[in-house]
Amino acid sequence: MKIRFALLKPAAVVAAVLAFVGAPALAQETHRLTLAETWGPNTPILGETTRHMAAMAEKMSGGRLQIRIDSSNKHKAPFGIFDMVKGGQYDMGHTASYYYKGKIPNTMYFTTVPFGMTTPEQYAWFYHGGGMELMEKVYGPHGLLSFPGGNTGNQMGGWFRKEITSVEDLQGLKMRTPGFAGEVMSEIGVAVTNIAPGELFTSLERGTIDALEWVGPALDLPMGFHSIANYYYSGWQEPSAEVQFLINQKTWQSLPDDLQEILRVAMRTAAYDMYTQSTHLNAAAWDKMKEEYPNVTHKTFPPEVIDALRDATMKLLAQEAEKDPLTREIIASQQEYLKRVRKWTEISDKAYLNSVSTVE
Ligand code: CA
Repeated sequence: MKIRFALLKPAAVVAAVLAFVGAPALAQETHRLTLAETWGPNTPILGETTRHMAAMAEKMSGGRLQIRIDSSNKHKAPFGIFDMVKGGQYDMGHTASYYYKGKIPNTMYFTTVPFGMTTPEQYAWFYHGGGMELMEKVYGPHGLLSFPGGNTGNQMGGWFRKEITSVEDLQGLKMRTPGFAGEVMSEIGVAVTNIAPGELFTSLERGTIDALEWVGPALDLPMGFHSIANYYYSGWQEPSAEVQFLINQKTWQSLPDDLQEILRVAMRTAAYDMYTQSTHLNAAAWDKMKEEYPNVTHKTFPPEVIDALRDATMKLLAQEAEKDPLTREIIASQQEYLKRVRKWTEISDKAYLNSVSTVE
């Protein structure tokens, strides 16, 4: 009795009753959201990111926020995420902004730009250089919110069956490379195609395509491209590839403030965690590839090829900037930010890697 009495001190009872009665009914509701991802089931890194985000959101909200994730085998529309979230069939999406360039060209700048910013530089642009505000200008009119959703880090330039020694070697090659890089490759004569991730291996194996780029060692290794094509080139096209979380604006507005903040924190944390996980797993997978597949040869494109790709990139960006004031604003923002931030990268990371770091 003594113990029970102590537990029921009047002040505690009042506080407990007030907390119960005073809390708005809405805040106690469970919000069940659905999320469609571009990726197939059990896709490493990318698929883990959505699950990690959903688990964090559920735990931080004490179970009030529950997110069901459908992979592409369920919804059958890997590149239809934008439309499904816009139309309200799903509350959220996890995809890459540049997959929608055919529909809304301005989406493509929020994944990566060839010869553009590295991952730390691009995150700095998103959060401190006006990137988030520009992304809102592009997605807002479609009833969508977009948030950085994880980064692969610097991507590899792709798998080729033959060594590339000149621009001529690239001309006529059938290659999968999405986004703006695809346009640039087209400009120098590559026959570019975009193929859903699940069909890439078969397309390369059957010769539907001669070359492809996907991501980097960690995601490329399980795809098996190295068993068909031996030349693995460093990249120029995706110095930092950010995927994204999309949210239907009405869904977002239906959430109380605390759940919005929990979701925001869960997405931002999952995005950062994907970047560190990518670095870690790429290193491990590259080690494994070198050991187990001695035919895999690492290459960098010769300067002649890089120059041609850079010229084509700058020409196409200038053309795009002429088409639409918002495009011009985005490109100018990225180029001006890159100019400023790169001066720092040059004397810090780049100088360190060039002059100080030797790892045997
Ligand atoms: Ca890629």
